[in-house]
Amino acid sequence: MCGIIGVVGDVNATKVLLKGLERLEYRGYDSAGIFVHDRNNGGQLIKEVGRIKRLEAKVPAELTGTLGIGHTRWATNGKPTVANAHPHVSADGRFYLVHNGVLQNAAELRAQYLPDVQMASDTDTEVAVQLIAQFVMAGASVVEAFST
Ligand code: GLU
Repeated sequence: MCGIIGVVGDVNATKVLLKGLERLEYRGYDSAGIFVHDRNNGGQLIKEVGRIKRLEAKVPAELTGTLGIGHTRWATNGKPTVANAHPHVSADGRFYLVHNGVLQNAAELRAQYLPDVQMASDTDTEVAVQLIAQFVMAGASVVEAFST
């Protein structure tokens, strides 16, 4: 079972995310990742297979930001690899997504709506984030895109 944590505020998001993921370890997972955004330096995505300690070792000490998301993954669609670990990002780099559960019709959605999108993973979650970006590009608001 995966775990999800998000943070927005006047705090060191990296610390909160890593601590939060450690607290979710008991749920079981095979890989993990964080996305941290800093107003001045942009965002950074870091993912790793195995324990949170391994992820932590990949995180640069200077990685700070005030918002971010983190995820521990229990693979259902695609092997436990760095590429398949969450968060997943849309091709335009605008949306980052973590997700718990399974999209049963991911293959159909991908074939129907994303034939020209170069996918970076084998996951159903990436299908969702690529779809959201496509809907927004086609004129939907972000809220509409998430609820479509
Ligand atoms: N279905 C997603 C995946 O395989 C999420 C699995 C989970 O709940 O951790 O990446």
